[in-house]
Amino acid sequence: MTGSTGVPALEPLVTVTEGGETAFHVNCSTAQVERLVASIDEGGGLRAGGPDAVAEHDPESPRLPSVNLPGLGVGHRRVLGGAGWRRPTEADDHADAGGFDTPEPTAIQDAAVALMGRGWGDICHDESLAQTWDRARDAGGSPVVVVNAHGNPTDTLLLASAPFEVLHGAAAAAQAVGADSVIVYVSDADERAAETVRAAAVNYPKPSVAIDVVTGPAEHRAGEPTMALEAIEGNHRLEARLRPPGPESVGLHGQPTLVHTARTLAHLAVSLREGEAPDTRVVTVEGDVAGPATVELSESETLSTAIDAVTVDGEFKAACVGGRFGGLTGELDIGVAPSALTAAGLGTEGTVQVLADDRCVLEFVGKRTQYAADENCGRCVPCREGTTQLTGLLRDIYDGAYAPGDIEELVRVMDRSSICAFGVEAGRPARTAVAEFESELQAHADGRCPADSCTVAPEVT
Ligand code: SF4
Repeated sequence: MTGSTGVPALEPLVTVTEGGETAFHVNCSTAQVERLVASIDEGGGLRAGGPDAVAEHDPESPRLPSVNLPGLGVGHRRVLGGAGWRRPTEADDHADAGGFDTPEPTAIQDAAVALMGRGWGDICHDESLAQTWDRARDAGGSPVVVVNAHGNPTDTLLLASAPFEVLHGAAAAAQAVGADSVIVYVSDADERAAETVRAAAVNYPKPSVAIDVVTGPAEHRAGEPTMALEAIEGNHRLEARLRPPGPESVGLHGQPTLVHTARTLAHLAVSLREGEAPDTRVVTVEGDVAGPATVELSESETLSTAIDAVTVDGEFKAACVGGRFGGLTGELDIGVAPSALTAAGLGTEGTVQVLADDRCVLEFVGKRTQYAADENCGRCVPCREGTTQLTGLLRDIYDGAYAPGDIEELVRVMDRSSICAFGVEAGRPARTAVAEFESELQAHADGRCPADSCTVAPEVT
């Protein structure tokens, strides 16, 4: 009874392992599972029931083997290794994979130097962890570690399928800064992840820290690290906190607090176990596809490899790379490393949303911007007013007034002056659409939607 592999289109998935081979049976109904079990009981062997694919692997493999099935033949499963292979709440499975070994303090610090935080919910997003940890240690008080698994599909996958990996990374971070409390923070919408990590916390052998699981509102902004702290403290009105000081100095209830995503902490755990930081990025591909897929790619691989993990519904047109406020691109020969994505003006949140050729870029960007105008916390003017004005500028295109310079200037102000990452990133879909899909925006100003999907301009609220 494993968790998801990250490729739900193949599930329910049954694997049958014998020695160094595993047979994969995809989309199994209950009746098919019963027939398969009966067939194996009758001596049918590994290939009983006619598997969809068979993989050869190390008989002691601690991770799901790569196999020639959509989504499972792409990438290198290191952080995702336990997902779909080990039982998520069985501590023995994780121990057999070397998962609970106690690391030396110097090894944890070395790993923190090498590792960059993953995702906008991490206070070290695209930065090394080490200096932030130093500030937490210097702040005194009673440090806390928050596992921020709010909203990102990879973070919730890790909690539901490989929670010990995340908890062990959190325990190591706690050990490094002298924290005796770990709080796992999950969206209200992700019940399965919350339930699984709760059960794993109970089964965690001889925990060196107290582990609690707290849920917060499902709104996108509640994943911002300081708004996550507000939600954990029980505040109903979520607003980002001014920085400095950062949460690592003054965080949860005024105590120094590390806020790291589940991805960051799982990478930390794997780094400590394997003695080196995995040179990988976990990416979820979704949108106009037959089914989403979460894959783990080497940083030298490109977005094109990520798209290979899915079947696009129609012709590929564009990808929104980097979360809800990611950047739009039609070019897939871009590395998945944060340096390459940032250089291309894209986001590093670890998600790729595919847009098929019948999608209108202006409509897509208009909805994202309207969402930002509706959902920002209202604390700072550049984001609160900027997102509303930007929505208006996009709406004006339908009336023939396309002003790319005004859009770029407004996005620049939002980027430079907003208090938190929500406002910094909210203009990115519009900015990249102007840069990459200018002719499509101009066509709307001329009264024509190239995708033939906009008949009515969206309302500005
Ligand atoms: S950037 Fe937006 S979400 Fe962040 S504090 Fe300002 S108004 Fe709130």
